Amino acid sequence: MPIKVENLSFSYGKKSVFEKVALSDVSFTINDGEFVGLVGATGSGKSTLIQHLDALIRPKKGGEGRIVVDEIDLSQKKADVGALRKKIGMLFQYPEYQLFADTVIADVSFGPINFGMKKEEAHKCAEESLRLVGLDPDKLCDRSPIELSGGQKRRVAIAGVLAYKPEILILDEPTAGLDPLGKKEILDLAVSLKKSGAVKTIIMVSHNMDEIAAYTDRILALSHGKLVADTSTADFFYNRDPVSYGLALPHVVHIVKLLREKGLYIEKDVLDKNSLVDEIERALHSRNGGQNG
Ligand code: ADP
Repeated sequence: MPIKVENLSFSYGKKSVFEKVALSDVSFTINDGEFVGLVGATGSGKSTLIQHLDALIRPKKGGEGRIVVDEIDLSQKKADVGALRKKIGMLFQYPEYQLFADTVIADVSFGPINFGMKKEEAHKCAEESLRLVGLDPDKLCDRSPIELSGGQKRRVAIAGVLAYKPEILILDEPTAGLDPLGKKEILDLAVSLKKSGAVKTIIMVSHNMDEIAAYTDRILALSHGKLVADTSTADFFYNRDPVSYGLALPHVVHIVKLLREKGLYIEKDVLDKNSLVDEIERALHSRNGGQNG
């Protein structure tokens, strides 16, 4: 189910004195199976872009260009927005603030019921998606979401999105406000959802370049509303200049660059800590002529 964005431009307050260009001639295609990182400094246009993908902003209002998701052309007035929202699961920042029902099961089954599913069937889907996010429905279904821990609440929110079985998952700063363990759990969950086929494609917005480097395969980088990079994650962090777009270098990449400057031959453009350790071991081993270790 590809997402095609063609020459998308958008301004807030178009043709007013407050006109603010948020996206400028952005084009890309995302195919099934990709884990894409959408990055850019604050104000670069990330939120505006993902709101377009969920039809919260329509291309024709204040902008131009085309967005086609699985043959639903959002630039057409008659586009079936309901069908689109079933295909794209959007997890906004701090999604736990949007939990509203009295019980976990009511909250998680809200989406499917809203999409026309019968209550019983929706509850089954909800239980299944609670299991997918690592929560036990037997223990949690009748509890109030308010009683849960921060990490559990976020999982419930993710389950609420998964319950209507979207093919594409958009995660907007999914780890914001969580402790380090909670962050890792959510990111590992995203990977396992993709691996198990529960979702086909993930687009993740994050300010944390360590997370983006370790988890995504491809980068779309925005700067002042323009798409300034569309490339593999390794190419982006090793061969482009993320800092010039207001982004930090991931720690792993920084360390590799320093080691290379100091003459230790780190061959691969690694993006996560475990691979870095392996590469350092290998480099030391070959520097020592394969003698030690
Ligand atoms: P990001 O998500 O990367 O921080 P945004 O998409 O929120 O970027 O913002 C892109 C640009 O549009 C910024 O210059 C921002 O100030 C402006 N902007 C965002 N939302 C609005 C709005 N509702 N009204 C006017 N300008 C806005």
